[in-house]
Amino acid sequence: MAEPLSPGATATLNALLAGPDPVSSALRAQIPHARVTGRCGCGCVTVDLTVDRAAVPPAPPHNNPAADAGYTVPDFPGVMVLTKDGYLSLLEIYSVSDDPITTWPEPRFLDR
Ligand SMILES: [Zn+2]
Repeated sequence: MAEPLSPGATATLNALLAGPDPVSSALRAQIPHARVTGRCGCGCVTVDLTVDRAAVPPAPPHNNPAADAGYTVPDFPGVMVLTKDGYLSLLEIYSVSDDPITTWPEPRFLDR
């Protein structure tokens, strides 16, 4: 399975990885080369990502998660970006409720 990123996932990645630092810049450059290669079993919008490694270089060494943020709206979930070998590997949304989050909240609500 390999699907393009949804507009919501793309917007969320761009918002989480905004910034001039080398890690954010390198990871942002990978977004157009990332494909969805897996999904969370619970039905939420969490996606496994695979980047075309021939197309873009890995990000410099960095912490994992590479980025994470909550939302400014109460009861909204949080999100984080994980990498593997310097490449985007997971965009995960985590919820405090038992109900899976089935649509990406608008990035303007990100608290970062
Ligand atoms: Zn899930």
